[in-house]
Amino acid sequence: MKRVIVTGGAGFIGANLCQALAASGDYQILNIDKLTETSCKASVAALEDLEHYGFLQADICDRAAMAAAFETFRPDGILHLAAESHVDRSIDGAAPFVQTNLVGTFTLLDVALEYWRTLNVEDQAAFRFLHVSTDEVFGALPLDEGVFRKDTAYDPSSPYSASKAGSDHLVRAWQRTHGLPTLITNCSNNYGPYQFPEKLIPLMILNAMEGRPLPVYGKGNQVRDWLHVSDHVSALIAAFERGEPGETYLVGGRAERQNIDVVREICRILDDRHPEGAPHDRLITYVEDRPGHDLRYAVDPSATETALGWKQTWTFETGLEATVDWYLANEAWWKPIRDGVYSGERLGRGKA
Ligand code: NAD
Repeated sequence: MKRVIVTGGAGFIGANLCQALAASGDYQILNIDKLTETSCKASVAALEDLEHYGFLQADICDRAAMAAAFETFRPDGILHLAAESHVDRSIDGAAPFVQTNLVGTFTLLDVALEYWRTLNVEDQAAFRFLHVSTDEVFGALPLDEGVFRKDTAYDPSSPYSASKAGSDHLVRAWQRTHGLPTLITNCSNNYGPYQFPEKLIPLMILNAMEGRPLPVYGKGNQVRDWLHVSDHVSALIAAFERGEPGETYLVGGRAERQNIDVVREICRILDDRHPEGAPHDRLITYVEDRPGHDLRYAVDPSATETALGWKQTWTFETGLEATVDWYLANEAWWKPIRDGVYSGERLGRGKA
């Protein structure tokens, strides 16, 4: 079994990743997560009794805790997902973004390098530090033109994407300067089970189910490229297993949609599942736009598909239907969140 540290494994993508790694039976997993208020330990509760899974509640900025984790667990690699991840929250207060995304990533790189230097030559060659990043580091595209490629210049717009861009630069520097075998993935917008209900798709599903307004920013014409989280997870595992150190892999779903069309599609699915609340699109409410809202992101994943032999398996339509059904069936997961740390209030107007 390969020994892997996953950071941020109580978050949306990290939890889906831990579940996939555990189900494969090929990995001994140490999930390190601080359990911030937008995490959810219940997402990985089913793994808790497995012998090949362990959980450590710790902050990736805590150097002593990270050094101890590397020293005792002795990983063959790390998949680094822990981050402050919500653009709106980064507008309201950027400090945790700078701290976790920059200082935290630096701390992990530093600790990983110190540990890596103690390995024999063979283990050093096999070691991987996979940094999980976003397409938002490339900034905004015009509405009808262009896609991000791995040589697209970085041009981040939000405190979130700027902090992720900075962390990508640190990761590359540790590879080029110190030889640490790092790789970076930049993925487009994910959706699927266990996504914290402050992000667009789960927020709209839950508000629509409860008959609450569906707040669409600006005109709702911003375009995002959507990928089902399980397809992102398979790309991460492929990059971790078969990727080249120093490489960057762009991951996307070739599913560009305007935000308003995503919301309308959710309403259509719910009209079918819950006809008593139909038509759900009567709940759509246009609200003040997000400051600095990027108009469009789009990723060209073809180089990644060729290099890693990776392919997505979901279409956006089937993935979205399955996601709506998951939220309908899993009230026990989201209800404590909606009743507790986040009940759907507007974030991201620049007021703390
Ligand atoms: P998330 O916010 O759901 O999860 C992040 C996890 O990191 C949480 O469990 C949180 O507790 C943990 N964390 C935060 N600060 C920490 C710290 N200082 N120490 C330890 N743990 C800490 O985010 P997500 O959507 O699952 O995203 C995971 C990663 O993937 C992020 O790096 C994000 O930038 C990247 N990404 C996300 C998307 C997306 O659409 N969600 C797309 C591309 C890339």
